[in-house]
Amino acid sequence: MDNNDFPILHQKVNDEDLVYLDNAATSQKPKAVIEAMEKFYYEDNANVHRGVHTLAERSTEMFEAAREKIRAFINAKSAKEIIYTKGTTDSLNMVAQSYGENIHEGDEIVISILEHHSNLIPWQQLAIKKNAKLKYINLTDDGELDMKQAKELITDKTKIVSVTQVSNVLGVINPVKKLAELAHKHGAVMVVDGAQSTPHMPVDVQDLDCDFFAFSGHKMLSETGIGVLYGKEDLLNAMTPVEYGGEMIEFVKKYDTTWNELPWKFEAGTPNIAGAISLGYAIDYLNTIGMQKIADYEHQIVSYVMPKLLAIDDLEVYGPKDPDKHTAVISFNLKGLHPHDLATGLDMEGVAVRAGHHCAQPLMTYLGLSATARASFYFYNSLEDADKLVDAIIATKEFFK
Ligand code: PLP
Repeated sequence: MDNNDFPILHQKVNDEDLVYLDNAATSQKPKAVIEAMEKFYYEDNANVHRGVHTLAERSTEMFEAAREKIRAFINAKSAKEIIYTKGTTDSLNMVAQSYGENIHEGDEIVISILEHHSNLIPWQQLAIKKNAKLKYINLTDDGELDMKQAKELITDKTKIVSVTQVSNVLGVINPVKKLAELAHKHGAVMVVDGAQSTPHMPVDVQDLDCDFFAFSGHKMLSETGIGVLYGKEDLLNAMTPVEYGGEMIEFVKKYDTTWNELPWKFEAGTPNIAGAISLGYAIDYLNTIGMQKIADYEHQIVSYVMPKLLAIDDLEVYGPKDPDKHTAVISFNLKGLHPHDLATGLDMEGVAVRAGHHCAQPLMTYLGLSATARASFYFYNSLEDADKLVDAIIATKEFFK
């Protein structure tokens, strides 16, 4: 697919053409989004909801139009179910704090060992605070979620199941629809971390039948500091806000306050207006390509690069090797070399990958690793980029021999 819309990709790094393979951390932004943001600040900027002047009306309209685009993008029933947050982390913390009020001593929360810290610590801390029990679904030998174990762990004691749709370390796609079914069978709610799925595949929250769904704008072409919490309307209506201030109130008396209606009840203070609007433009951009087309193309990249990676002597690739079980996120280590040295070696070849624990320390411990190098592709990467990754790994291996 074309990357001409992404000016940042057309530069040299260490005298080599940049190959940006750190998309799981954050994506690059197309001209359409950058220019729309510039136009917004040149022509339309004002605070939302509070003014009757023309600019305030214009920015409010753009802010709420973006919410409607997001609703359609994930197929939520109503725009009331779309809450603007700072990102996935903020969204998941909000659910843990607000819906978490329903958790009591002896209740159980089920997550997986694959979780990013932002879908782990909020539940761990909630469990500690409420004297509840946190349980982990482990992996099969293939690196997939152990659904047999999930069936044993999710019981009538379970109140919340929270699992990522795609692992940011192994790229594995989890059966969150099946987990939602299991959770509901036992009267629990299903929370989905969509940080690594929403940018790369069609998402339909009604089809998944999840109760909450979280994702970040910056991983799908928009600005940083904007994200979304989707929640089913009846659940959100029954929940109390976790942040107080402007925007989220209906009426404030000296000793009592009533809350604004959804979604503003959960949006205290001046929101990230430009961020929300940029997410709307990012969605327009993604829609012109088509999410299924993006998923298919990225599948083609994994299918192309996986055998080449597996053929490199001394390169260990983690997680499922079957491209059908994967997004284009691949973690690996070169025997005898620290992943940071590997990532530095790749950077010398112009290839940007991430190295570290990827905010998934329990998974690292589970896999017996301290860190990995991770290459993560997006639709603007080419098969030549995949070749450059392979060549750069081989060159780094030779260099450190
Ligand atoms: N969950 C997953 C699976 C992620 O990959 C990330 C970010 O890397 C997050 C949550 C947190 O996202 P953010 O830092 O945008 O809040």
